Amino acid sequence: MRHQRLLRGSLLERPKFCGKPGCKCTKGQPHPPSLYLSRLVKGVVKQVFIRAADHERARRQAKSYKEFRQTLRRWRAIDKELNQIWEELETAQEERYPFE
Ligand SMILES: [Zn+2]
Repeated sequence: MRHQRLLRGSLLERPKFCGKPGCKCTKGQPHPPSLYLSRLVKGVVKQVFIRAADHERARRQAKSYKEFRQTLRRWRAIDKELNQIWEELETAQEERYPFE
């Protein structure tokens, strides 16, 4: 596992319209989208605005977080399967007493 920082949550993009009259965004050409970090805090969805200067880093770390979670899910599935196999092995090898 590479050493990397993980930004928990998911990123939301919102098209940005400044509203200034005559701006290209009023003619269907929005500015680069605003970015928000959306995450669950104590059961409530919180959205935090991300500064433009942090977009690249936030995207990279949010992607790493997503990949980390996927790997963790896979790991847990394998762990569960292995556990099942061990349980079955135990049952299959269990001796009865008195011996037959
Ligand atoms: Zn504009």
